[in-house]
Amino acid sequence: MIPVNQPLLDGNEKKYLLECIDTGWISSEGPFVKQFEDGFAARVRRRHGVAVCNGTAALDAAIEALGIGPGDEVILPTFTIISCIIQIVRAGATPVLVDSDPATWNMDTDQIEAKISSRTKAIMVVHTYGLPVDMDPVLDIARRYGLRVIEDAAEMHGQTYKGRPCGSFGDVSTFSFYPNKHVTTGEGGMVLVDDDSLADDCRSLRNLCFQPHKRFVHERLGWNLRMTNMQAALGLAQLERLDEFVARKRHIGARYSAGLADLPSARLPLAGTHYADNIYWVFGLVIDEEKGMDAEDVMKRLASEGVGTRPFFCPMHQQPVLRRMGLFENDRHPVAELMYRQGFYLPSGMALSDGDIDRTIEAVWKVLG
Ligand SMILES: *Cc1c(COP(=O)(O)O)cnc(C)c1O
Repeated sequence: MIPVNQPLLDGNEKKYLLECIDTGWISSEGPFVKQFEDGFAARVRRRHGVAVCNGTAALDAAIEALGIGPGDEVILPTFTIISCIIQIVRAGATPVLVDSDPATWNMDTDQIEAKISSRTKAIMVVHTYGLPVDMDPVLDIARRYGLRVIEDAAEMHGQTYKGRPCGSFGDVSTFSFYPNKHVTTGEGGMVLVDDDSLADDCRSLRNLCFQPHKRFVHERLGWNLRMTNMQAALGLAQLERLDEFVARKRHIGARYSAGLADLPSARLPLAGTHYADNIYWVFGLVIDEEKGMDAEDVMKRLASEGVGTRPFFCPMHQQPVLRRMGLFENDRHPVAELMYRQGFYLPSGMALSDGDIDRTIEAVWKVLG
């Protein structure tokens, strides 16, 4: 079976990990954490990086640090991972959803302004699968209405929007370092901000809101979201190779695109837009409904050809857990609904060989050609 994801860990990962063991620095107090934070923040041109235990935790901290709570509304795409919405809901705020753009698979920025109310506090953008959200209209709306921007850049390590790094656009921006992300720490995440006091808040929230002078006296409820020195060791070694990783993903994307360009029955990822070239975090396909097969059918057939796949996101307005809470009763987002029914992605991991790509292309032709 060709795995849907496999990381590449053959740089300095082992060396730095051994250093953790040899020195005894394994907790979040170890020196790699700060080095990884500084290195990653510099890469996305932010003043502060706050390493946390995963990308979901980074989003939780972002929502809490911005003071989003009861009565507030946050506008976000329906087509995303549950991580984006959990803390909005838990904090007692109201998520307000927008549909996707069928060409880029990102949130349709034309739908944002109509969703703004007197309670809107923030817009959360989620760069999805390989192309960034069109940021200029989002930033313009945010400025005009005085809204905060949260940027989930989990899938965009090394990507740029009009030449500026993804992860540099939000009042708070977040990354994940799960093993299917360009840079992995096994589990891990980071919050990126420029504002000093927001950075202090995020650091405090990460560390149980211990106080510097009265450690065990708490003015606020935080979490333990700390990243270990071992995770940061991996991250540092991975970060050294980010350019190589981005080039590798673009190579995978180009090879799939060439091999599948003439496929009659599926939409492929756009190679680029006027503001960015695709970074192909994953290589997705959206099957035409006229084909009479949905993503599940095709994924099953590909599995029997030895090709691993993963379904596209299930939109937030179709999540049973959220609907049971009374959310999104009247929401319809036809583009995201179709992407969920008809979309999935092919093996896209860093360790994927050209031979595996070619075998996958052959299997896709066999199933869909
Ligand atoms: C992976 C991912 C997350 C969650 O990150 P974890 O580290 O798995 O918690 C959040 N948002 C997006 C867009 C992601 O791709």
